[in-house]
Amino acid sequence: MEQPIAIAIHGGASDIANMGLTPEQEQAYKDGISAALDSGYAILKSGGSSLDAVEAAIRVLEDNPLFNAGKGSVYTHDGRIEMDAAIMDGSTLRCGAIAGVRKVKNPISGARLVMDSSRYVLLFGKGAERFLVKEGMELVDTSYFRTDFRWQQHLKMINKDSMQLDNDSRAEVDPIDERKMNKYGTVGCVAIDRQGHLAAATSTGGLANKRWRRIGDSPIIGAGTYADSLCAVSCTGKGEDFMRLVLAKGVSDRMRYRNDSLHIAAKDALAELINVQGRGGLIAIDGAGHVVMDFTTSGMFRGCIDKAGHKQVLIFTK
Ligand code: ASP
Repeated sequence: MEQPIAIAIHGGASDIANMGLTPEQEQAYKDGISAALDSGYAILKSGGSSLDAVEAAIRVLEDNPLFNAGKGSVYTHDGRIEMDAAIMDGSTLRCGAIAGVRKVKNPISGARLVMDSSRYVLLFGKGAERFLVKEGMELVDTSYFRTDFRWQQHLKMINKDSMQLDNDSRAEVDPIDERKMNKYGTVGCVAIDRQGHLAAATSTGGLANKRWRRIGDSPIIGAGTYADSLCAVSCTGKGEDFMRLVLAKGVSDRMRYRNDSLHIAAKDALAELINVQGRGGLIAIDGAGHVVMDFTTSGMFRGCIDKAGHKQVLIFTK
């Protein structure tokens, strides 16, 4: 009997209900998710690997300026772009990640190259870029990532920062506030192929206004991204919370050691966020092709094509 194929995607979880999106903007996000689902699913349908499917789907979202990854990445406090990405093959536990890169058009393919062509898991900054060039990847000028919308968002945050610093003596922005302003999300994809192999991938520009070359959970295997033979998981939310909880691996652990279903494991792992005053979401898929897309925020851009071939793209709870 043929194994079921399925794919799920997120485009970030946050307080979307209060973002004031117009119906047209909501539709544009949905169209973005839908196009990415189609490109990944086409690979799975033609017998391709889940690894290829998640990479292809993420590339579509990285090229779409609406999402906080690749082209649409948010600015750091210093007005730079610093992107993180990771990819993992559940059947072999091979994985690759890059962090703090500035000139990689499609960071997920950079992560894939680290996985396929290096003996390391995570490369950082200029070293990562040097490695990618050595492997034949062309870098782009940092001006490629410049979008007016993000730049205006950056200027607003910088303004708010200095107002806040004028009003009190704290050296940094309130992290809760930072999270509220980081409204547009990271992207992630999980999939299962005809061989029954699972894969996960996540790509992000990180938190808007981040400082000190901060790196989030997305490129940290086990925190924001994880896949093994039981499940594949990609998370979104404030990375520090997900790193503290090693949240993505926590889903697999619950399945392995407690025999939880994917659904229960994901719910329980997300419920732990409350212990670190965190909120966020995840997408996950198990070896039987069950899909979970769960979140504790008011919305998460997301979509899936399940094992019955049924496609859905959603933003809020309904
Ligand atoms: N998890 C990402 C980070 O902390 C951000 C997000 O998911 O929106 O870098």
